[in-house]
Amino acid sequence: MSLTALFKQKTVFSLEVFPPKKTSPTEAILPTLEQLQEIHPDFISVTLGAGGTDHCDGTVAIADLIQNQLHIPAVAHVPGLYQTKQQVLELLDRLASINVNDVLALRGDHIPGKEPVGDFNHADELVAFIKQQRPNFSIASACYPNCHTEAVDFVDDIGHLKHKVDAGVDHLITQLFFDNQAFYDFKEKTEIAGINVPIEAGIMPCTNRNQIARITQISGVPLPKKFRAIMDRYQDNKAAMRDAGIAFAVDQIIDLVSQGVDGIHLYTMNHAKIAKTIWQETHSVLEAAQ
Ligand code: FAD
Repeated sequence: MSLTALFKQKTVFSLEVFPPKKTSPTEAILPTLEQLQEIHPDFISVTLGAGGTDHCDGTVAIADLIQNQLHIPAVAHVPGLYQTKQQVLELLDRLASINVNDVLALRGDHIPGKEPVGDFNHADELVAFIKQQRPNFSIASACYPNCHTEAVDFVDDIGHLKHKVDAGVDHLITQLFFDNQAFYDFKEKTEIAGINVPIEAGIMPCTNRNQIARITQISGVPLPKKFRAIMDRYQDNKAAMRDAGIAFAVDQIIDLVSQGVDGIHLYTMNHAKIAKTIWQETHSVLEAAQ
């Protein structure tokens, strides 16, 4: 079933993983993927380039494992900033050859000191290119409930988002957020702008202090008072911080699902155990929402 059809049928539950470091073999991720398989995600997406490398072999190899060995639909991330049109076409053809026809089209993050190629300066250009060159691909894209850090303001960001969706986006996945109200306000803005594609809420379980500091620095996402209180109290106690981070994510998911969200996209950070715990605590809620 296509992802577009899936969103019409149910509250989608998807996961995100990243390729292991270049020094590790791709298969190093297999035990993690096998554990994630047990929680029956609707799809698993694989990042490309997040964290500074623009090498696509790991992403393709992992998408292949997910799609053809574990028989779970795979979505490959395709950032455009450091790829030529020809390279994007080659990547899409490699994906098609392993039966992966779903991509998450992104601009990508700037790598300090590295000049962008110039073929795709924003994600809308990449979306339009894929739509035109490979119309059989389904295209997801990113959006930002707390506004993208480079946008002048929300009006500017939503205007660009509308343009991107109109270029051919089938569904959106949000940047992580910790305040559900920010998501609901954002959803209202998208509806007013006439953005009608399904929007999955990106949830990242933040279970240790260093991770939280890094994530909030990279994404610019604000930490609500409620989460800061948890950090202040438990950040030096690993087990308590882990439990509190999981509980916070579970709480967010239950609230979102009960408010009729189109889907939940869990940023697993390749921590299968944490993803499994969250699924155990929320799957009955997700199923009851169908
Ligand atoms: P865009 O849609 O291009 O938006 C970026 C900024 O430019 C926004 O401020 C927007 O308002 C503005 N803008 C958009 N279009 C225009 C236009 N035509 N003219 C002027 N301004 C415009 N990065 C990776 O490198 N690899 C990954 O695998 C990856 N996975 C991600 C997965 C998700 C779910 C999310 C939310 C992000 C991911 N990222 C990844 C990070 C992403 O690349 C960054 O957030 C990046 O800064 C923006 O990407 P975008 O596709 O949203 O860009």
